[in-house]
Amino acid sequence: LPEQEAFDIEYWLLEEAKLQRMPKPKSLAGRVAVITGGAGGIGAATAVRYLAEGACVMLADIDAGAVEEVRAGLAARFGADVVRAVAMNVTDEAAVAGAYDALAIEFGGVDIVVSNAGIASSAPVEDTSLELWNRNMSILSTGYFLVSREAFKLLKKQKIGGSIVFVASKNGLAASPGASAYCTAKASEIHLARCLALEGAPEGIRVNVVNPDAVLRGSRIWSGDWLAERAATYGKDKEGLEEHYRQRSLLKRSVLPEDIAEANYFFAADISAKSTGNILNVDAGNVQSFTR
Ligand code: NAD
Repeated sequence: LPEQEAFDIEYWLLEEAKLQRMPKPKSLAGRVAVITGGAGGIGAATAVRYLAEGACVMLADIDAGAVEEVRAGLAARFGADVVRAVAMNVTDEAAVAGAYDALAIEFGGVDIVVSNAGIASSAPVEDTSLELWNRNMSILSTGYFLVSREAFKLLKKQKIGGSIVFVASKNGLAASPGASAYCTAKASEIHLARCLALEGAPEGIRVNVVNPDAVLRGSRIWSGDWLAERAATYGKDKEGLEEHYRQRSLLKRSVLPEDIAEANYFFAADISAKSTGNILNVDAGNVQSFTR
């Protein structure tokens, strides 16, 4: 569409009327998305959102059994031809490259990449072993690098642009007690996204960040040791911890996987065609961002 140059209400009304007359195809029809951590809460919720908008989706996850289970569930609802699963460790260079090869074969390429695979494992700094530090750096920071480097190779070859969405964390902007390795790795994801936005722009490759605050429900992270550790930090159990997070938000609401999926949809779709290098916090208004 030609872009209007000045304030012109008639122009906008005319454009709106034109839109109303047009048949509305699904907004991601014909697009192909890969979602790392696709067997987890945020990844699976994002897959549902994308599939409902007509995209084809490849789920990539280190947990072969879980990712196949999610694939089967999605295939039953949306059809087996539009969803694939691959067992892949984001820290394995060859496996990541192989997943993009599989995408090219299965779906003919890729348009949307959601780098989302992650862990939650951290400790007070004096108890942080080099192994724990490196695990955070390798899965989060290096994993996001490898997933986007291979994406860039394919996207540049295709010459049709694309959208990369990083699911980072509010902890990449704000410090959290006893979680220096995780927070530092998440901060590096955010800065990597900015660097890639700069590099990708000439090719029409957009790179944006979604920062969830704590998403307790539906997430595999929030089980076992991590849940126990974090709850203990605040002297609470799971329900108490969720209430703590809810109460510290301005909106007094819990953040859910589908809230993050909605933000991931925004950055994948053409409605955000003019956004790159942006950060969207989905945190119900974390009070700590507003007060000292
Ligand atoms: P989740 O545990 O439900 O999902 C994460 C998925 O990543 C799992 O299925 C896991 O198997 C997979 N994974 C882990 N290591 C991998 C590896 N090396 N290679 C490939 N896959 C791997 O957690 P989620 O809540 O859906 O988290 C998704 C992303 O959101 C993560 O990056 C996480 O750090 C981020 N995040 C989550 C929260 C939260 O509170 N849940 C808050 C902020 C940010």
